[in-house]
Amino acid sequence: MTRISAFIAPFFLSGHVVSGEYSPIRLFLMRIFARYIEVPLLHLSYLACVGRLKFLSKFFLTRWLIVYPIAYPFGHWGDTGRPVPLNELVEMVEGLEGRLAVGPCRCRIGHKACDHPMEADIVIKTGTDVWLEAFPDKYRVIDREEAVRIIRDCSEQGLFHMVFLHCLLGGAVNEYVICNCCTDGCVPYILNRSLGQPVYPLVRGEWRVEVDPALCLGCGECVKACPFSARRLREGVSEVLDCFGCGLCAGRCPVGASIIAERTL
Ligand code: SF4
Ligand code: SF4
Repeated sequence: MTRISAFIAPFFLSGHVVSGEYSPIRLFLMRIFARYIEVPLLHLSYLACVGRLKFLSKFFLTRWLIVYPIAYPFGHWGDTGRPVPLNELVEMVEGLEGRLAVGPCRCRIGHKACDHPMEADIVIKTGTDVWLEAFPDKYRVIDREEAVRIIRDCSEQGLFHMVFLHCLLGGAVNEYVICNCCTDGCVPYILNRSLGQPVYPLVRGEWRVEVDPALCLGCGECVKACPFSARRLREGVSEVLDCFGCGLCAGRCPVGASIIAERTL
């Protein structure tokens, strides 16, 4: 019996029984997450990384005893984001099936630390029903045109975009929300930058930026724009380091020398 359980357990934990897009277990977990966990967890994470409880992530002992044991499993198997460039995101939204809804940014509710647009949390796919059901007075159904308008407005304000994934067990990719993120308020971004990619990973998506050195002016706009410190100037030409594919630099380059390309590595 023990042997059978040991054999079956990994299947249940990593297979589609838990992580499938329409798995009742996953949808149940997502409802619990939406109602009771998401905002308090974002609030606490913000405090522990950059707020009043910052010591928790700074001191060796508290980092290893408290912060890492929560952040590591959550980031690897629970919930994390994948940056997506603007045009590719617009294309994705236009092709999405099912209803979309928009509501207040969960991070900005959690910490109230930035003044970027609040109505920027666009739930998609299975996320739409779950968040509409949990917060019927806060979320409203929108069409694709309105979703694109919100995304473009946020982009004009310098925000970048992430699609969030839930229950990443057994290679599952359950996209459920599009977030419009800033460096001072997006808690998953702050977790990634504060704790590091190995502890709280963001997913590098299908895109990365490449530079056309023949066009590059060496103006440094891309270095200033990159929220991931993935650009630098070398001998007057911009270089790309560990690109997450958010696309912000491409939008700022005055001569089109930063080009969004499919990630090959
Ligand atoms: S280099 Fe930086 S700003 Fe440009 S796409 Fe990559 S992560 Fe985004
Ligand atoms: S913004 Fe464009 S032109 Fe300026 S350094 Fe970066 S790649 Fe070169």
